[in-house]
Amino acid sequence: MNDCLFCRIVARQSPSDIVYEDDAVVAFKDIYPKAPVHLLIVPRRHIASLVDATDEDALVLGRCVVVARRLAEDSGYAEKGFRLGVNTGPEGGQVVYHVHFHFTAGRKAR
Ligand code: AMP
Ligand code: ZN
Repeated sequence: MNDCLFCRIVARQSPSDIVYEDDAVVAFKDIYPKAPVHLLIVPRRHIASLVDATDEDALVLGRCVVVARRLAEDSGYAEKGFRLGVNTGPEGGQVVYHVHFHFTAGRKAR
């Protein structure tokens, strides 16, 4: 059993509410939403943290950003705006060590 929670979600070995997937990227609802819309966009391939990203990861990380644009359109927030964030490392607030983009929308960013 893979001990990475998001690898298990991507492999559908752990339950989650998946809203988008393709061959490289999966997006699912954050279980503890901090905004009216709170999605997590992850590469299928395990990359522990942004500090572990290499040139080979550039394509899939860029794909995550484009998926965010698509999710914004699908949820009606492309015009109103949204926030995309990557918590990185212990002092960056990262809890799950599989790179993920927080997509939040529906309330004004501070
Ligand atoms: P971070 O602090 O950036 O590592 O964010 C981890 C995020 O994962 C938090 O916003 C959690 O609410 C979320 N999370 C934890 N477990 C799950 C899960 N099983 N399904 C969906 N989201 C989760
Ligand atoms: Zn993983």
